[in-house]
Amino acid sequence: MVKGRLTRGTTKVVGVMGFPVKHSLSPAMHNAAFEALEMDWVYVPFEVSPEDIPEALKGVKSLGIIGVNVTVPHKENVMPYLSEISEDVHRIGAVNTIINDRGKLRGLNTDSVGFVRSLGKEAEGNGRTAFIYGAGGSARAVASALQRQKWRVVIHNRTRERAEMLARSLNESGAGYNQIEVVSDNATAVNDALQVTSLFVNCTPIGMHPIVDQVPAVEIRNMPYSSIIYDLIYHPLETQLLKAAKQLGYRTMNGAEMLVQQGAEAFELWTEQKAPVDVMRKALLSCLT
Ligand code: NAP
Repeated sequence: MVKGRLTRGTTKVVGVMGFPVKHSLSPAMHNAAFEALEMDWVYVPFEVSPEDIPEALKGVKSLGIIGVNVTVPHKENVMPYLSEISEDVHRIGAVNTIINDRGKLRGLNTDSVGFVRSLGKEAEGNGRTAFIYGAGGSARAVASALQRQKWRVVIHNRTRERAEMLARSLNESGAGYNQIEVVSDNATAVNDALQVTSLFVNCTPIGMHPIVDQVPAVEIRNMPYSSIIYDLIYHPLETQLLKAAKQLGYRTMNGAEMLVQQGAEAFELWTEQKAPVDVMRKALLSCLT
């Protein structure tokens, strides 16, 4: 329960389903937002094992829960139990937010929107090149978002076939946008791509706690000085990649803002109110520092 507030018969409930879920930072962000806006809502972490997903989703309906976030390992396996999924979910292949719409469960993904919101005025690509390092779940959400924001997106991944699969599936559903390209493994091709890169996004766990001394195997100094280096990692807030980028004079962003903004988007979908983003950011950062 939120400190200093009571739940009662009128309290609206949202939450997060994961396995495990105790490390989720979302309860802190959302409950701080409800408290700041004096809303009679509460955000609860629900630890749900994979075999209990069908029953848990029935419970969302029968208990009148307004909606839930969905985290690892359920982002894909909730899909068969939903009445409807959004276009973003089709493209990304994962659900991170469910809305209980009077007994119909709608699956959405706020990661792409969260990433775009985090970029602010830099979100519009206008044909500029974004270099995505990695080809897993987060790369998919980021590549999908940037393709639709009219970036030229290039992907480089340790396992090239996975980057090719990602590009192929987003290009199939991204008719009318720039086609996503895969950068081959040789150093010349990587450096050629870096030389025209305006936005580099690390979508791998390289540099994440506890192995914090690693950096992606690319020469970031080959990028133009006006480029932004964005690391999706938020633990630590400043990775070795970001430290090195700062020393070279680049603008940098860490993963905390995407986390805040994907949460803000979910908050707005459930409550139909503007999220107090500053409050959510402060709550998140107080957990991370
Ligand atoms: P994922 O689906 O497991 O994908 C991981 C990617 O990293 C794969 O492309 C993998 O390459 C690559 N990779 C892993 N270890 C590597 C290494 N040692 N060298 C080179 N490549 C390596 O993970 P994810 O969900 O995309 O998450 C990636 C990172 O983003 C994590 O640090 C996560 O915390 C962060 N993240 C942040 C947010 C946010 O809101 N800020 C949201 C989502 C994720 P292969 O294909 O070759 O295996």
